[in-house]
Amino acid sequence: MLPDVLREEEGRVVITVDENIPNDLIKTPGDFRESFFMLFRNPIIHEKMKEILATIGNTPLVALKRFSPRAGVRLWVKVEGLNPGGSVKDRTALAMVEAAEAKGRLHPGLTILEATSGNTGIGLAMVAAVKGYRCRLVMSEGVSVERRMMLEALGAEILLTPAAEGTDGAIAAVREMMQREPDKYYHPDQFNNPANWQAHYRTTAPEIWRDSGGAVTHVVAALGTGGTLTGLARYFRDHRLPVKSVAVEPLPGHKIQGLKNMQESLVPGIYDPSLADLHYYISDEEAYHTTRRLAREEGLVAGMSSGAALAGALRLAHSLTQGNIVVILPDRGERYLSTPLFRPTPVRNAENLPQPCGSGR
Ligand code: PMP
Repeated sequence: MLPDVLREEEGRVVITVDENIPNDLIKTPGDFRESFFMLFRNPIIHEKMKEILATIGNTPLVALKRFSPRAGVRLWVKVEGLNPGGSVKDRTALAMVEAAEAKGRLHPGLTILEATSGNTGIGLAMVAAVKGYRCRLVMSEGVSVERRMMLEALGAEILLTPAAEGTDGAIAAVREMMQREPDKYYHPDQFNNPANWQAHYRTTAPEIWRDSGGAVTHVVAALGTGGTLTGLARYFRDHRLPVKSVAVEPLPGHKIQGLKNMQESLVPGIYDPSLADLHYYISDEEAYHTTRRLAREEGLVAGMSSGAALAGALRLAHSLTQGNIVVILPDRGERYLSTPLFRPTPVRNAENLPQPCGSGR
């Protein structure tokens, strides 16, 4: 698959160089390969960015050096925290808003209203700021203070529901508001909106296939709405690519922001459990411990759900003799600095923990 700047002409690949690229970038034949690589990998160089939303996606796929249990098994992470709003949910927020605009369900004057544990809210608030919509977000009091402050910075209005009710309390509050004033709001409803998983089908999955050079054998995603896993699994299945989809779920009573245990939550309408080839359950301790290892051993400060996904990937890695595992890291670690996640308390080694129920369902 050639990127937009390249086209084939009589068996040769021709590059269209944007006039914004400084001349000294493409000088000599020796520089050509480097320039080609940069044009291919980094759309910022070949596209004139019209707005911040154009920088969503095309996140880097980074090799982990210290996590692989054996030579034949490689681990790669897709660093979604490098999206402009800091998470994977920038992709879905933009996709849901643009799908609603295209269908005529969102137009100037309406307020975007969503129940969100934070990252979708940040994505929606950013998209709303750029496109000129008002944005009202309902979330649990349990959400980290950094996320709330970020939303305020983006000009969104925030309503808090009791921490004990979790995200489901916020969902119920939004339903009530929609019933009371249906004409005032556009409610994206990320839990039931196909544009959520379609964003990953259209962007995340083909990026992984492209950037791994077709070498990926497994993709691992932790479950919140299930949108990431659903989009990835459907893409690889529909295109008959030999990639297994792996779901990671937290245990009941967990504290991992952004994730859902499906037994104790409202099951999202877009989540199809039959899509996952493998399914791992991860404890909070295992997720936190792995998040800290990722920061200290690889220099990658990601959120707690990233640690959960990577912990699932490590279980998988130990069960394989060969494979290239790609793990989705949904957001940045900075978002959790006020939580106990990175506090230097002594932690038991995850390998010595009793195995949580149902690993490898
Ligand atoms: N991790 C974090 C931090 C999230 O905010 C989310 C989204 N709720 C997820 C993981 C799960 O992603 P998805 O909704 O696509 O299942």
